[in-house]
Amino acid sequence: MLYVSTRGRAPKLAFDEAMLAGLARDGGLYVPETWPVLSGADIAALAGLGYEETAFRVMWPFLGGVFTEAEFRDAIARAYAGFGHVARCPLVQIGANDWLLELHHGPTLAFKDVALQLVARLFDLALERRGARVTIVGATSGDTGSAAIEAFRGSARADVFILYPHGRISEVQRRQMTTPAEANVHAIAVEGDFDACQDLVKAMFAHESFRDRVGLAAINSINWARVLAQTVYYVTAAVSLGAPHRRVAFSVPTGNFGDIFAGHVARRIGLPVERLVIATNRNDILHRTLATGEHRRAGVRPTISPSMDIEVSSNFERLLFELCDNDGARTAALMEALRAQGGFSLDGTALARLRAGFDSSRADEDETRAAIRDTLAATGLLVCPHTAVGLHAARLRRGDRATPMVTLATAHPAKFPDAVEAACGLRPALPARLAHIMQAPERVAVLPADRDAIEAFILENRS
Ligand SMILES: *Cc1c(COP(=O)(O)O)cnc(C)c1O
Repeated sequence: MLYVSTRGRAPKLAFDEAMLAGLARDGGLYVPETWPVLSGADIAALAGLGYEETAFRVMWPFLGGVFTEAEFRDAIARAYAGFGHVARCPLVQIGANDWLLELHHGPTLAFKDVALQLVARLFDLALERRGARVTIVGATSGDTGSAAIEAFRGSARADVFILYPHGRISEVQRRQMTTPAEANVHAIAVEGDFDACQDLVKAMFAHESFRDRVGLAAINSINWARVLAQTVYYVTAAVSLGAPHRRVAFSVPTGNFGDIFAGHVARRIGLPVERLVIATNRNDILHRTLATGEHRRAGVRPTISPSMDIEVSSNFERLLFELCDNDGARTAALMEALRAQGGFSLDGTALARLRAGFDSSRADEDETRAAIRDTLAATGLLVCPHTAVGLHAARLRRGDRATPMVTLATAHPAKFPDAVEAACGLRPALPARLAHIMQAPERVAVLPADRDAIEAFILENRS
């Protein structure tokens, strides 16, 4: 099992190499060269198994034997032991054949934990084997950074530095990054906005001597290992609802297209998926692409679902590669047009394939708030604004009522208490297992948006 770049000009890599590399050398994303298949009997045999055993059976064929079975099972066990629910990603019924898949029972209350908790263990395994260390640097608008710090705290092989915009993330998000005491994880509050943080990270990766000196690595959402880990909960949810004998539909709050691409992977390996609904907020480039065939940037406007305020959905490139018949040169040309001209149009065949595989919907701010209120009134449940965007799409794009519709609950409402309270009048409480972060001492470096200053801090503070 090898991985190829979506731009066709980078060496094929094994699973662990693709995971450590993140981005391919030609600027592309790694995808499996061939797809393993779970037969109907394989899927039927998952009924009644725990999350970890299903995770092992779904992911194992993608690893190509780079870890031993025992190593991989142990990594999975340790990744999910810290989740606050024994089912790890439980389903909750919210209506007639309507379901929520709760992905927020991990340590930082967002679905990013499902992937990063496992990826951190796999990084440690791969680095230990190589006798290597890395310095992970990332920019965050909230959820990814806290999940990365939580996943890598105490790692013997990685130092982690997360840049966030000073004063512009919620208190819970900040405390999740500033309260872990382990010496290998660091929160950096940058005097600037999220774009400034991202530009600084890009500048450090482009600074070759620095990159090589500290062994710079990334764990952003284009990492194949993250996508793969997210495939598992599509399978556990569908099996609970009757797969392989019954098809299941999913509505997925979408930003970078990583989570919904994992649903596509589940379908490619044999899961009977009736539809995948791309749920966007008013930053709706993907919804417009499905409607018009034009993939064109229009500027990002902030919303109450900030983790979806994105217009370059980086994982969309993985799907584009398939829509282009796995033609790396064509995919590269489209991505270059997106960079240089702000967009591209899909040809008739590619657009027809996109529409055959996906459906889409958009929620503006009022519709998002209404979905929070309606869900509370109907079920007594509080949902986060991202989840609300997904629920809005699930209602609009519902097909046959006999097909279960599963909306992915991507974060716990307590991560976005102000937006939830403004929408419905109730303030979600932080789960008891996180209460300690509101008292624990914080450790954070406030630094100017200046590459030299950040690099100096990293050189001084890495192990
Ligand atoms: C990251 C995130 C999303 C978007 O997921 P993608 O994989 O980037 O499409 C949606 N909701 C929440 C809460 C997130 O943290």
